[in-house]
Amino acid sequence: MRDAYFAYASRGCIRKCTVCAVPKLEGEQRDAESITSVVRNIEARYGPKKDLILMDNNVVASPRFHDIIEEIRDLGFLPDAKLSIGRVPIQRRVDFNQGVDARILCKGPSYLRDLSRICLKPLRIAFDHLGLKAPYEQAVRYAHEFGLTSMSNYMLYNFHDSPADLFERMRLNVTLNEELDLRIWSFPMRYQPTNLPDRTHVGEKWTRYQLRAIQIILQATHGVVSGDPDFFKRAFGDTVHEFHELLMRPTLFQPRRSSSALVVSEIRLVPDSAFSWCPEMPADSAA
Ligand code: SF4
Repeated sequence: MRDAYFAYASRGCIRKCTVCAVPKLEGEQRDAESITSVVRNIEARYGPKKDLILMDNNVVASPRFHDIIEEIRDLGFLPDAKLSIGRVPIQRRVDFNQGVDARILCKGPSYLRDLSRICLKPLRIAFDHLGLKAPYEQAVRYAHEFGLTSMSNYMLYNFHDSPADLFERMRLNVTLNEELDLRIWSFPMRYQPTNLPDRTHVGEKWTRYQLRAIQIILQATHGVVSGDPDFFKRAFGDTVHEFHELLMRPTLFQPRRSSSALVVSEIRLVPDSAFSWCPEMPADSAA
């Protein structure tokens, strides 16, 4: 992450999701300064960087999206691009790290075709509630069609969703991984209203007890939900019923340190491969 150019190709968003601060903080969708000039200026001052991290709020909503991809290609970030500085060439990477919008990606294959023409890794598609299931799944299938196999998503919970809603979203990733031989992993993100100074908000379909259980499980995995089927079934269950039971397990609510240790030790029983396929999971997460 340190060896990267950080830039925006666009800013703001076409939507006004109530859960999101972007409409207030960033405003309407618009172009940003040319990424070519940002990259060239950084390169002239600090030398070439391996990766390109783009922090756009909703890049696929930009009317210039196709041109942005061409600009990224012109900067050398083609699929399999490598940076040769030392003896060993290093694989380069583009990351739209705020995620891309499934409701736009699902409209046709052209968006994923464009994204497959750069060294994008991972593809991050936001999946904030189960109402997005159809567009999300369609976007993943297009990604698979164009050879994009490494995917990650942010999953909001504790908003208008329920535990079952969160489970179904996580479970869908496991199903798609199994069916299409993909590697999708996710980061559940707990909703907190921005005007609440502490983290006490409990969504209308959640209980404090369930939120605490999720927090303990996620502590054990550094916040990452691997889509590896063995890992997932052990950490979250295979059905909604098992997930609900797991959230009510009293052993999760032993004193804080021992309950986390218990979950970690259970997850440790899963082969290391369950962790190694999530590049964003620290190597010692299972330890
Ligand atoms: S689409 Fe994403 S960035 Fe835009 S308002 Fe909704 S959550 Fe925020």
